[in-house]
Amino acid sequence: MTKLSPADHIETAEIIAIGTELLLGQTLDTNSFYLSRKLSDLGINTFRRQVVGDHRERIYDAICQALEANDLVITTGGLGASQDDITVQVLAEISGKDLVEDSSVTAAIRKLYPDSDRPDFIIPRIPAGAKAFPNKNGTAPASLTTFLYKGKLVHVLVLPGPPSENIPLFEEQVIPYLAQYSSASFIHRYVRMIGIGEYKMEQELKDLIAGQTNPTIAPYASEGEVLLRISQRLEEGDTDKTQALIDIIKERLGEYIYEIGTRSLEQVVAEKLHSQKLTCAFAESCTGGALSARLVSLPDTSKIFKGSIVSYASSVKKDLLGVDPEIIDKYGVVSAECARAMAENCRRLFKADLNLSVTGFAGPGGGTPENPPGTVYFAITVGDKVSVQRKFFSGNRQRIINYAVATALDLLRRSCAE
Ligand code: AMP
Ligand code: MG
Repeated sequence: MTKLSPADHIETAEIIAIGTELLLGQTLDTNSFYLSRKLSDLGINTFRRQVVGDHRERIYDAICQALEANDLVITTGGLGASQDDITVQVLAEISGKDLVEDSSVTAAIRKLYPDSDRPDFIIPRIPAGAKAFPNKNGTAPASLTTFLYKGKLVHVLVLPGPPSENIPLFEEQVIPYLAQYSSASFIHRYVRMIGIGEYKMEQELKDLIAGQTNPTIAPYASEGEVLLRISQRLEEGDTDKTQALIDIIKERLGEYIYEIGTRSLEQVVAEKLHSQKLTCAFAESCTGGALSARLVSLPDTSKIFKGSIVSYASSVKKDLLGVDPEIIDKYGVVSAECARAMAENCRRLFKADLNLSVTGFAGPGGGTPENPPGTVYFAITVGDKVSVQRKFFSGNRQRIINYAVATALDLLRRSCAE
């Protein structure tokens, strides 16, 4: 689609989610989340988001405030035929446009709803002159009204509330239409790492982060993992510079990188196990089944995962898993020896290719002077080889468990051949 002149470009947007149910905490506002991402891909900056109830004055004020500062305002919700659905009426008032039937909308509705010629069937109306986007999954259309607000050219896009309606509408019709208003687009790439903290990662990339303009590098840390987002704003004729930057990052931090893209750690592990036709099994103590849960959240896991014994109590480690009581008496349950025995017994019972054990103190209580809360031992068998690792994680109980799960998944990943 041809681009418009720079004066018509949309650079900034505000999203307004409309619906009393959103303020009551009954419905999660996923629309704003979705739209922010899509606008960013289109090269349009979302400056602010609002949530308002189904209340005429508040919707009016919210739209006016948003128009003061932005070229584009997007509303979702309040488009149904019920009394509290008033978004389009409010927009008609603000823009000074009449509400009219649109022939493309009426035709789409007549086609989808054979009973729409009944006298009581309400054909939705949109502001006169607005660009209509008929809805294939409901009756309320989306529309884009362009008008002068306090001397400035502005656009208001109204979308229906249900994601099942507004997502297809946005993807199929609105994005191609809005693309002509944007002078730029964005590329977002992701580098995912594990086994390195955010601080150390930033130290290693200090010069790149300090010197960034376009592409930009943004680090995010989550429990046990760090993510780098590399974004480039592309104007017409620009070339993609993200790969060159990723190559430098790979050179410096390659040993920690498990994914360049959007796959999660468990997805990377599962795909490795599938492609190498390997199976795994676990003996979990302090993770209480959380490790298994992350793996089985993926489809088709039965081909790669045999099972897990959640051997939380010492008696279960001994009686069910078969750990020698002497090992536990001599070294304790949080020890390299116990982790090793757990993994070996896991292999004896499950006969998987990779058998992994996790045992540690998740805290806040417990622990010993040598192994304070946060200490976790991991053991994994690969063939007849067993390797053991000790790690220390700080933070609260849930954080320690999350770190332990991430570390265990990483051990599995590293134990698969490339
Ligand atoms: P409405 O167009 O206001 O009648 O909205 C219809 C339905 O869409 C609501 O009952 C919600 O289930 C859903 N919905 C509305 N707004 C949102 C939103 N911001 N995020 C997710 N779902 C929404
Ligand atoms: Mg509503």
